[in-house]
Amino acid sequence: MTLERTFSIVKPDAVERNLIGAIYHRVESAGMRIVAAKMLRLTKEQAEGFYAEHQGKPFFEKLVNFMMSGPIMVQVLEGENAIARYRELMGKTNPEEAACGTLRADYAVNYTFNSVHGSDSPESAAREISYFFAAEELCDR
Ligand code: UDP
Repeated sequence: MTLERTFSIVKPDAVERNLIGAIYHRVESAGMRIVAAKMLRLTKEQAEGFYAEHQGKPFFEKLVNFMMSGPIMVQVLEGENAIARYRELMGKTNPEEAACGTLRADYAVNYTFNSVHGSDSPESAAREISYFFAAEELCDR
């Protein structure tokens, strides 16, 4: 077992509906620790850069506009196999396909407004954590 760190976002639709605490509760109940967190509002450049891999796809502009539409919470989560475990906790991207009891099944509005983000690989986690946090912002226990 490896102690991993992953990057997560509580997206604007969830912040707007006062779901930060509910989502943090699920994360902590699953045994993961929040080792860094902050609220911010993405600029167009930040949103486009974060989702650069999706540039040119039909949903890209809608996604960027959504991610800039209100404040978000960004977190670094730590735990055993945190990357895969948080993806499991989130459920599939499309909430209609997300398993019962997952964050997206319970909270997502639709495919784009799907409440949460989580890194999908160790490489993405490293890139995404450093996109939003300086090393000294991560709190070791
Ligand atoms: N998305 C969308 N339509 C699609 C695919 C993705 O609106 O057909 C949005 C959705 O908000 C998703 C984000 O783009 O969370 C990033 O897509 P990705 O395939 O990376 O899914 P994720 O890793 O977030 O599950």
